[in-house]
Amino acid sequence: MGSERSSTEQFDVIIVGGGPAGLKCAHTLSDSGLRILLLEKEPVFGDKICAGGLTANDLRILPVPDEIIEHKISNTALHSPKRRSSTQAQAPFLYTVNRKKLGAWQKSLLDNTPVVVRTKSRVLKINNNHVILKDECKIGYKYLIGADGQASIVRKHLGIPVNKKLIGIQYTIPVKDLDPTLEIHLDSRMFKSWYAWVFPHENSLAVGCCSNPKILPPARLKNNFHQWLDVKNINYSGTKLETYPISYDYRGVRFGNIYLIGEAAGMASGLTGEGIYQSLVSGQEVARMIIDPGYMPEKLDIVLRYNSIQHKIMGLFNWSHTLRNFLHELLLMAMNNNRVKGFIRSAFSPVKKK
Ligand SMILES: Cc1cc2nc3c(=O)[nH]c(=O)nc-3n(C[C@H](O)[C@H](O)[C@H](O)COP(=O)(O)OP(=O)(O)OC[C@H]3O[C@@H](n4cnc5c(N)ncnc54)[C@H](O)[C@@H]3O)c2cc1C
Repeated sequence: MGSERSSTEQFDVIIVGGGPAGLKCAHTLSDSGLRILLLEKEPVFGDKICAGGLTANDLRILPVPDEIIEHKISNTALHSPKRRSSTQAQAPFLYTVNRKKLGAWQKSLLDNTPVVVRTKSRVLKINNNHVILKDECKIGYKYLIGADGQASIVRKHLGIPVNKKLIGIQYTIPVKDLDPTLEIHLDSRMFKSWYAWVFPHENSLAVGCCSNPKILPPARLKNNFHQWLDVKNINYSGTKLETYPISYDYRGVRFGNIYLIGEAAGMASGLTGEGIYQSLVSGQEVARMIIDPGYMPEKLDIVLRYNSIQHKIMGLFNWSHTLRNFLHELLLMAMNNNRVKGFIRSAFSPVKKK
């Protein structure tokens, strides 16, 4: 065992992790005058198992350029075991992106800023005022931000466990001439309170599902997923099944001079598994809190309220299998109603200029 090499390096803020949360946080801090260091363990940004679905909310906080967007989706097909409902909104409501391209673009926003970015820099240990990298280099901080995802080392350093997780599993299936329709499959027998998705990408479909491993253990989820793929005649041969946890165990963002953002803070939705928006908002809001200690993070409060509503719905769905099936079918019936369809179409119509 080599001894820890001492280093004179010192930063005001060290951000551990270069996912959507860490990169958004670094960008928001980039003109603060503070010395910022972002450490990413991988050689590239955004190499994350994900369906890559962004909503209009994501684009408002992170105006992703068109060249990064693979599909602008306005067609949805919602399926239950008994019904199918398709809706065409007047304007896109979901945008699919390749996560590596998104990561590279978010990183490019830092290129001409004073933020120091280091890849292949895994943080292995944390002490009260410095982090230690895998090459035993020590770097000092005033503020430390854990943006290092669901298995966060910063969260572990704070002694905060992760007790609420989903397991997401997914195939990326190459397809030629695909139809850019978003498919959501509510099938309680297969996925309990969760669902399966088909997200169209440039030349592929992201087909996946998720569930709470305490309610549907990963081996059963995988088995059910394969049964469901076979029934739907979706050919996944030759493609690799990818699995990754999603944390929704939120305990706060600020712990003295240490902050947690994104999934390190457990900010994903326990019902839908989405987490990019929550990561972007928490990254931006924590940066603003550091710049101005009197800043009130209202957007963060809204996200936390949204997550809390989703977790209540999840609790209701898990409470009764019969109620869940009934609500799924009711939702599909409502979606087949022309008035509801009209409402959805107008809700997503392009904003009229005054
Ligand atoms: C199958 C699946 C599908 C999903 N689909 C969607 C979707 O369509 N839409 C959506 O909104 N969300 C989706 N999510 C959730 C979304 O991917 C995450 O919530 C989001 O990536 C979290 O962003 P983050 O920046 O907090 O963490 P991450 O994206 O996990 O980034 C963390 C970064 O930290 C780095 N890191 C980790 N440890 C260290 C360390 N010790 N030192 C240095 N660097 C470190 C990692 O390499 C990584 O780059 C999905 C998740 C799964 C599993």
